[in-house]
Amino acid sequence: PPVSAPLLRAQGLSKRFGGVLAVAGLDLEVRPGEIVGLIGPNGSGKTTALGLIAGTLPPDGGEVVFLGRKATGLSPEALARLGLGRTFQQVRLFPSLTVHQHVYLPLALRGVRGAEEEARRLLRRVGLEGQASLFPPSLTYLDQKRLELARALALDPRLLLLDEWLAGLSPTELTEGMDLLRSLKAEGRALVLVEHVMPAVRALCDRVYVLSFGELMAEGTPEEVLRDPKVVATYLGV
Ligand code: ADP
Repeated sequence: PPVSAPLLRAQGLSKRFGGVLAVAGLDLEVRPGEIVGLIGPNGSGKTTALGLIAGTLPPDGGEVVFLGRKATGLSPEALARLGLGRTFQQVRLFPSLTVHQHVYLPLALRGVRGAEEEARRLLRRVGLEGQASLFPPSLTYLDQKRLELARALALDPRLLLLDEWLAGLSPTELTEGMDLLRSLKAEGRALVLVEHVMPAVRALCDRVYVLSFGELMAEGTPEEVLRDPKVVATYLGV
């Protein structure tokens, strides 16, 4: 069968912060419906790479093509409207807005018809239907993560960038969180996971890119990259 065109292609992406080359000529591709892992030690450039892809950081070099059109230079809002969503490493929730309002308000602001019902549907989608009238501080950590996801889903993204979305979850929460991510893939959405939780990377990702000092050190299936001696040495620091 023909290989489908990539949803996203980054070529030669680079970003410098003063003397630090945070991302150094990164080539990366995401195909429709796949889960791609972006892993590497702290400071290897993962979050910077996400920012370059999501349009929150201007690259110093290279370009990003999303859905066949040049995405470099578009604002994060424009990219979000095209179907590129993201969540952040630190949850960004408002303590005085209810769970429902967190999802309803962005829908209403965008003029989505039936925003009330759509917000309820999205909360059901992530398993928060029973918590709609609560405020974020009284949610479990996983439920805060679910809420972030519901907000990102409000824009119906084809591609969702998740920055350590599974970090800090208990073992039970991790299983539930992984099931939720699998269900997004089952809906046909593509995901890019910046992730440190290796069992989750192994279980979820179709392909993995490994960064080291801003450069691509390895690329392949989780099995391939996680048995690569270079990756093992760098990643485990041995
Ligand atoms: P990771 O997500 O893999 O931990 P980062 O992308 O956060 O890596 O960082 C890559 C490198 O770029 C690090 O050396 C970091 O200190 C540097 N860096 C990241 N963001 C900035 C910034 N806003 N200003 C200066 N240096 C930065």
